[in-house]
Amino acid sequence: MRRPLIAGNWKMNGLSADAVALAGALRDRLDGLEGVDRVVCPPHIHLAAVAGELAQSAIAVGAQNCADAPQGARTGEVAADMVADAGARYVILGHSERRQYYGEDEALIAARCGQALAAGLRPILCVGETLEAREGDRTEATVAEQIHGVLDRLGAEGLGEGVVAYEPVWAIGTGRTATAEQAQQVHGFIRGQLAERLGGSAADAMRILYGGSMKADNAEALLAQPDVDGGLIGGASLQADSFAAICAAA
Ligand code: PEP
Repeated sequence: MRRPLIAGNWKMNGLSADAVALAGALRDRLDGLEGVDRVVCPPHIHLAAVAGELAQSAIAVGAQNCADAPQGARTGEVAADMVADAGARYVILGHSERRQYYGEDEALIAARCGQALAAGLRPILCVGETLEAREGDRTEATVAEQIHGVLDRLGAEGLGEGVVAYEPVWAIGTGRTATAEQAQQVHGFIRGQLAERLGGSAADAMRILYGGSMKADNAEALLAQPDVDGGLIGGASLQADSFAAICAAA
């Protein structure tokens, strides 16, 4: 049985006091909740403060990116071992906003994944199709290309203990959510692709999260699908009550 994972992507929001306050509120609300892993991903600059606030809690911390190379001449980047040193255990990679605004492609995302794995971080690898691709019946082709484009460049361990997040681009921050059936269909497809590459038992063990306007009122139906093993939550993760309600639904 895969244990559900709910991850909050705080994106580029909040000053340090806001981040620490949100972390503290989540810790208090989620205290005692069992059967679900949870992680929050603040901006890099708040990682250490949030990790400190959550040190005695069951909430793990993740970053929203890491560099594609070890420490050295990469102005403006943050190395994976620095992210781990700040207290992170997970790192979101290949988010559609990074693909869209910073031109990240599979080669770069794979290099970031490789660095993350070497530093002991668990990648949260994001994949998902645009509205244009969905309407052109290219959802599966897009997602397959994104997954294989990364796995082709990694070793036999693949994503290690990492997870995949299926995030249809048209559902991110739009309030428009995939239906439970649409999500299950793509999650099942992703698991099949992972099985081809990594073998059936590794694919069965890997968690596949759904992301895209998941909220307290639609989480239950999405999380009830057999291949939906959790959520990557953007907007709703910035409100402690909403994030806690989604964790409870898992
Ligand atoms: C995200 O950015 O990963 C995301 C899922 O955002 P939202 O929940 O706001 O759609």
